Amino acid sequence: MQELQITDISIDSIENQLTLQKRLHLAILRLDKIHPIVSGNKWFKLQYYLREATEKGYQTLLTFGGAYSNHIAATAYAAKAHGFNAIGVIRGEQPQQWSHTLQEASAQGMRLTFLPRNEFAQIKRNASAKWIEQRFGKVYAIPEGGYGKLGKHGAADILRIADTSIYTHFVSAVGTGTTVAGILQASGANQHVSGISVMKNNFGLADEIQKLSDSPELPEFRLIHDYHFGGYARYSTELLDFMNNFYRTTHIPLDFVYTAKMMFGVFDLIRNDYYPPGSVILAIHTGGLQGNESLPPGRLLF
Ligand SMILES: *Cc1c(COP(=O)(O)O)cnc(C)c1O
Repeated sequence: MQELQITDISIDSIENQLTLQKRLHLAILRLDKIHPIVSGNKWFKLQYYLREATEKGYQTLLTFGGAYSNHIAATAYAAKAHGFNAIGVIRGEQPQQWSHTLQEASAQGMRLTFLPRNEFAQIKRNASAKWIEQRFGKVYAIPEGGYGKLGKHGAADILRIADTSIYTHFVSAVGTGTTVAGILQASGANQHVSGISVMKNNFGLADEIQKLSDSPELPEFRLIHDYHFGGYARYSTELLDFMNNFYRTTHIPLDFVYTAKMMFGVFDLIRNDYYPPGSVILAIHTGGLQGNESLPPGRLLF
C-alpha cells in the first residue's frame, strides 16, 4: 500500500521497576504509528489482498465485520486510497445509532449492509462465494479480520520492517490468529511467540492458526486465554486505569479491545516469571486506536 508510510514506525523501550527487577528487556513495536485508521496489523494483513484484487482486475472489495471492527475501518480507508469501491457486510441488525467505526467507514465511501447474526455466521462459515456473487456481483471478497493465507503472509512482513533478530520473545494480541500466524512464520528458531487472546475461551484458535500454516509442523507457540476481561470488547475500570497509567509513564496510547489486554497480560506474565531473566521481549502494538472512540468520553487521558 504505497500511499501509506511505514517510516514512522519505531521500537520503543519500556523500562520500569518490574523489568529491572526481573532483569529483562521489554520493547514495543509501534505499528499504531503507521496511520490513524489503517493502523497496525490491518495494514500488513490487507496488503496482499489488495495486490491480488488489483492484479485480477477487480473494482470492488467486500469484507465482513462487526460494528466496531478495525478491519472494516481499515478496509474502507484502504479501498478508497487504492481506488476500489467497498462493501462492508456488518454483523447484526442495523443499529439506530451508527458506531463511530461505521460512520467513518461510510464517510470513506464504503457501502454498508447489515445481516442478522445467524445469517452472518452462516455466510461466513460457508465462505459462500455464490451468495456473495448473487447478491453483489463481481467483487473481491476479503475474509473477516483478513483471516487467510494472504493475510498471514502480510503479517509476516511485520518482523521484516526492522532488525528483530535480537528478540527472544514476541507477543501480540490475538483476534482471528492471522497476525500471530504471520509472526510465527517469520520468527527464527530461537524466538518464542505468544498470543494473548482477547476473546473469552476461544479455544479453537490454535486450530485456526494451524490452518494458515504452509507446513504441517508449526513452531511451538503459546496462546494465553487469561486476559480477555470478560470477552471481546469488554473492559473494566482496572483495564482503563491501566491504560491511563501506561500512557502517563510511556506516552504510548493503547486500545481497550486488543493492545491494552496484551500489555496488561505482558506485565502480569513478567510478574509471574513467564519470561526467564535475560529475555528480550518485543510486544507488537497492533494499533486499533480508533476503537477507543466508542468509550464514554473523558475516560482516557489521551
Ligand atoms: C484486528 C486486531 C488484532 C487481531 O489480529 P488477528 O490477526 O485477527 O489476530 C490485534 N490488534 C488490533 C489492534 C487489531 O485491530
